[in-house]
Amino acid sequence: MSILFIKNADILTLDAADRVLVRSGIAIQDKQIVAIGETPPDFVADEIIDATNHVALPGFFNAHTHAAMTLLRGSAEDLPLDRWFNEGIWRTESALREEDVYWGTALAACEMIRSGTIAFADHYFWMHQTARVVQESGMKALLAWCVFGSDFAAEMGPTTLELTSDFVAEFQNSAGGRIRTMLGPHSPYIGNTKSLQDAANVARKLGVGCHIHVSESQGQVDNSYKQFGKSPVAYLNDLGIFDTPSIAAHAIYVNDDDIRILREKNVSVAACPKTHLKLAMQTTRIVDLMNAGVNVALGTDGAASNNDLDLLEVMRLAALLQKHDTGDATVLPSVQALKLATQHGARAMGFNNSGVLQVGADADLVLINMDKPHFTPRHNLAANVVHSARGSDVNYVIVNGQVLLRQGELTTLDEEKIMREAERRGLEMVQGARGQTQTYKG
Ligand SMILES: [Zn+2]
Repeated sequence: MSILFIKNADILTLDAADRVLVRSGIAIQDKQIVAIGETPPDFVADEIIDATNHVALPGFFNAHTHAAMTLLRGSAEDLPLDRWFNEGIWRTESALREEDVYWGTALAACEMIRSGTIAFADHYFWMHQTARVVQESGMKALLAWCVFGSDFAAEMGPTTLELTSDFVAEFQNSAGGRIRTMLGPHSPYIGNTKSLQDAANVARKLGVGCHIHVSESQGQVDNSYKQFGKSPVAYLNDLGIFDTPSIAAHAIYVNDDDIRILREKNVSVAACPKTHLKLAMQTTRIVDLMNAGVNVALGTDGAASNNDLDLLEVMRLAALLQKHDTGDATVLPSVQALKLATQHGARAMGFNNSGVLQVGADADLVLINMDKPHFTPRHNLAANVVHSARGSDVNYVIVNGQVLLRQGELTTLDEEKIMREAERRGLEMVQGARGQTQTYKG
């Protein structure tokens, strides 16, 4: 059992009272926080971290990404969504090999830990390779194996619903509870009705949710009305996809009836504002969804449309865009923006004992070094984190009491080797691309 003591930290607890503690301690025993603020005088630690000039806060939850797409970073630039898919992603992914998923995800893990992300909701292929990275890195993750569900020959690898449900059964709550799972039907616009219905039935049987792309463009919504006479959200709901607590990625073009369904079915929305800006999409109506009682979390999406995995930047963009789009500078104040990136993500991903710094919570936290010009003076710690911090300011990352980043150094991953392998494999993939795996007609 490891015992860790963090001293002299300024702490954004994000607890029910939004307490901010100044020059305080956090005592961690094994996986949990056992004291905060006042520390028991007899507490003896194996490791003491002096967090003078650091702010401690819950670690970030990236609620929608395709981690291994780091290999495609910068390969499909300055394109609208349809051309980004057809001329970029689905062409390059024709050369994706199973082992690439491991190295691309390992690269993503290095980047995410460095910028304070402690958990990610992944949606990709050959998901047991992603699970390997989660096991080795010490991160937490919600893994969903993507199934297109339109044509077996067009799937990436030998993917069937049976195979992905076997993955769920095998990996749910594995790695000491750090891995959770969902099913991963790609979207209503790729999957056919039967495949989506089948996924919903299996999800119900396994007691897991679905992680799925929803309503990313007006074209998708128009096609849904043409084909099915209803919105994508209503269509998925009628097929039973939302019968278990699920994640709807993007959910940009939703009407009030859709929002009611999302609320009633306890669906979390993962907003990805940087992708929305880069592909010239509209943005998720975060404030409207939250006012209606929907749990809204934040995602980076894949690095092919972001082009990094820095959730601090995503959080800042989410706050700025909501202020801009609503014409109301008072919406999404900093503490609320922090909650989107932490406890809302934890809830979306089923890590219900994380996302807050209090006694009994999982010891999932980050320390940001504030001893820098862009954090001076420190009038408002939450605003400093949301509007001034960058990923490289994160100095320590702790997950389940294990230090994954210590004074800016990764402790669990061989970053040099991972970067070399990822560079080689990324270049080979783009050069070896044969043709499209899918056709997007949104
Ligand atoms: Zn996505």
